[in-house]
Amino acid sequence: MMRNPNVTVRSRGVMEKCTYCVQRISRHRIDAERENRKIEDLELQTACQQSCPAGAIVFGNINDPNSQVSRLKAKNRNYGLLEDLNTRPRTTYLAEIRNPPPES
Ligand code: SF4
Repeated sequence: MMRNPNVTVRSRGVMEKCTYCVQRISRHRIDAERENRKIEDLELQTACQQSCPAGAIVFGNINDPNSQVSRLKAKNRNYGLLEDLNTRPRTTYLAEIRNPPPES
């Protein structure tokens, strides 16, 4: 608690589930409410997203059809794990492009 008071820490051996940095989301939500505005797309980054040098992680509002994350989720390369079992995961992935056909 002394070093990171914003995040609860389980005891050793207990796995933490990703909260998408809920403490950051709360801080931005409070700031936006104080300023009477919506949280802008890409204004809020998770810690993993912020520290990824390749920009491989995108986080945003999937209810906003114009957000970057929604546009990426609309691509036909987008897939989630076990979607055929109707798991409807929030985290999805973009399939790798291998040997694309040449432009005709
Ligand atoms: S986005 Fe990364 S740092 Fe944030 S809660 Fe999830 S795993 Fe942890």
